[in-house]
Amino acid sequence: MPEAPKTQNDNLSEKNKKTLEFIEDVTCNPDDVQQRVLSDILTQNANVEYLHRHGLSAHTDRETFKKLVPVITYEDLQPDITRIANGDKSPILSSHPISEFLTSSGTSGGERKLMPTIESELGRRSLLYSLLMPVMSQFVPGLEKGKGMYFLFVKSESKTPGGLLARPVLTSYYKSNHFKERPYDPYTNYTSPNETILCQDSFQSMYSQMLCGLCLNEEVLRVGAVFASGFIRAIRFLEKHWELLCHDIRTGTVNPLITDPVVQDAVLRILKPNPALADFIESECSNKSWQGIITRIWPNTKYVDVIVTGTMSQYIPTLDYYSNGLPLVCTMYASSECYFGVNLNPLCKPSEVAYTIIPTMAYFEFLPVNDQEQAKDQKPIDLSEVKLGQDYELVVTTYAGLYRYRVGDVLRVAGFKNKAPQFSFICRKNVALCIDSDKTDEVELHQAIEKASSHLAPFDATLIEYTSYADTTTIPGHYVIFWELSAKGSTQVPASVIEDCCITIEESLNSVYRQGRASDKSIGPLEIRIVETGTFDKLMDYAISMGASINQYKAPRCVKFAPIIELLNSLVVSNYFSPKCPKWVPGHKQWNKIKIDD
Ligand code: AMP
Repeated sequence: MPEAPKTQNDNLSEKNKKTLEFIEDVTCNPDDVQQRVLSDILTQNANVEYLHRHGLSAHTDRETFKKLVPVITYEDLQPDITRIANGDKSPILSSHPISEFLTSSGTSGGERKLMPTIESELGRRSLLYSLLMPVMSQFVPGLEKGKGMYFLFVKSESKTPGGLLARPVLTSYYKSNHFKERPYDPYTNYTSPNETILCQDSFQSMYSQMLCGLCLNEEVLRVGAVFASGFIRAIRFLEKHWELLCHDIRTGTVNPLITDPVVQDAVLRILKPNPALADFIESECSNKSWQGIITRIWPNTKYVDVIVTGTMSQYIPTLDYYSNGLPLVCTMYASSECYFGVNLNPLCKPSEVAYTIIPTMAYFEFLPVNDQEQAKDQKPIDLSEVKLGQDYELVVTTYAGLYRYRVGDVLRVAGFKNKAPQFSFICRKNVALCIDSDKTDEVELHQAIEKASSHLAPFDATLIEYTSYADTTTIPGHYVIFWELSAKGSTQVPASVIEDCCITIEESLNSVYRQGRASDKSIGPLEIRIVETGTFDKLMDYAISMGASINQYKAPRCVKFAPIIELLNSLVVSNYFSPKCPKWVPGHKQWNKIKIDD
């Protein structure tokens, strides 16, 4: 008997089945897969200068590789990266041409790190994305029947002196044909037309994406953004602009603030006059309480898809409030260097999220991290050797030409899928403050504060102690610095001087922070809170009462523990905000200098 023609649903479930089989396969024998991946990478790149420099010519085995090639950080790679950025096209790191640089949100010397990438990495990234929905649909059926309302954005890009593009990994992905020309797939059916995502102007992009999401409210089955901070910013945008948005929905016209004709056309394909919907949204948004606003406006939403692991966990209470406790789903773990893994149990609690590293993505090693932080003397071990409950720093060797590169993330083995370990994300090393994608470490903060405090000298005032925290109760969140001053002079330090200190700190921070403040508006103005004399003594007393050693006590440069923040806040005598945005221009400081000198 001839086979009945397959329906779209049969095709989908077959595709899902194949994807899940792939995951089963690679997790059953991860060590074999890893050995093959390393051998592939080393065979492909046998002729590259970097490997020759370390004496590895034709060897593709794990033992020789580990013996000869050192474990490195970005700083070790900087001279090679600079050569590539300046136009050296010889095979330095990869035998394939470097197609562009991905600008990481990790910084080096205050500037974004530049990660080389090659064309074929886009395929690997797409593969990881293609695993997410088949996994999800095991837990939430029927997602193919509606749309996802995802707030996705591109950021500005620049060119290196040698002419290579430098841009964030997601900008690169959204602008690629893998995303723009994706064939129809019910799982990548978003409310935001591509044109609205690809619009460079962040206001127009957000406005048009929100407008489309509102028009299609009944069809939305899942909502999200990449990071929790981005999704909360979208809700805040709605809070500010719902009247304009409702006007557009009522009349079927696009606000003149949307000047990009391509975006206008894309929105007008969706927007039709709908007074009933406008009335409904108006009545929900004018309600004093915004609790559960997501489930009220998008009533069929099953979950919120955002990363809330790592520093983003600070946003969980706000998301719970807006979503009335819908599941917060963290689907994947990735970076500019490499996409790493997926969460195979996506409906678990945020605190229980563990990512299964997909062993085909790169060759992974793990540097044990113990209490004494003796990582230097430790040797990295393989994926198949990690132990349950242990912490490791992730080290990658990629197809694009990073060899034994320390990513800077600390992961803990939380369990196993078949023979593949699953990791919970513990932290990014050396990050003191973070609001969005910014990552500010203690050293950088210290230098910025030292510079700013020099403004106090004319008033015979000095900074005795400081600490800081990321205040995410404001939207967008902002950095708060607590200052205890000793003022010997007779004149008080004027408010304008402390405000100057705020902006000086901001100007001294890394480019990711300044971009967040000046361009993306994802970070609010930095605040200095002056605390009363003796505050840091009280902080020490508190820490000692909690068991800290009196001999070893140092004032923390960053605080996260709520009772300590409460104590500090109770001792604030005045507070000041940065009066303007710090300067930020796209592209590296060095390249900009070249341009100016030219
Ligand atoms: P970037 O280099 O700017 O692409 O940022 C990548 C970094 O973001 C990673 O190395 C992690 O520190 C962080 N990150 C990415 N995905 C996750 C996740 N699912 N949970 C926690 N942190 C993440």
